[in-house]
Amino acid sequence: MSLKPLRIVLLGAPGAGKGTQTSRLLKAIPQLSSISTGDLLRNEIAKKSEIGSVASKYIADGKLLPDLFMAQLVTNELRQRNWLNRDASFLLDGFPRTANQAEKLDSELESNQANVNLVVELDVPPSVILDRISNRWVHSSGRVYNLQYNPPKVPFKDDVTGEPLFQRPDDNPETFKVRLDSYFKELAPLKQFYIKKGVYDKVSGDTSDIIFPKLLELIKKRFS
Ligand code: AMP
Repeated sequence: MSLKPLRIVLLGAPGAGKGTQTSRLLKAIPQLSSISTGDLLRNEIAKKSEIGSVASKYIADGKLLPDLFMAQLVTNELRQRNWLNRDASFLLDGFPRTANQAEKLDSELESNQANVNLVVELDVPPSVILDRISNRWVHSSGRVYNLQYNPPKVPFKDDVTGEPLFQRPDDNPETFKVRLDSYFKELAPLKQFYIKKGVYDKVSGDTSDIIFPKLLELIKKRFS
């Protein structure tokens, strides 16, 4: 499937399935590549870098890192990957998370004629999310499994590498609540920013299997 350049932001509560939808979209749309800020930060922590040492405290507490720090991190990443141009297609998973981050991203992209042209909110009921998070197991690559809906072929082992899966330390109930509250607090102004830009849309559903075909259809309709 060949589409016009598409620059997508996925919004969604922690556990709404941004990572899962991202992997499925990357398979369905070969021209698409993604940046997940959560994965980026976790890699920095694993590398024990300076960025990682700043990030680890915030992540452990379920708090958002400062906007300027995040905006610089993502801008550097976009530049390194050569995505700051009008022909680039990319998907951002987990960034921006605040209206302030969105403004900073927008001014950087605008000056490179590479504006975000679709923002999709993954709308999953909080009760479903809470249930889902207790079944979430991940691999260090960022691959995500759900013991109920999307189990690994061998229990607790990654399908690709066979390495052990683990539960994210910030998926514990207390930290998760902080993350969920912060998502809903930031969502309204963030959403408003993109509604004004005319690029916001929303896909609702209880499972990734319900959401994915709707999301793909939305993208095909706009970018074919
Ligand atoms: P995620 O894997 O997307 O749930 O992100 C894990 C954690 O990384 C979040 O709870 C935040 O502490 C941090 N983080 C990721 N993306 C951002 C962002 N755009 N702004 C601030 N903090 C972020």
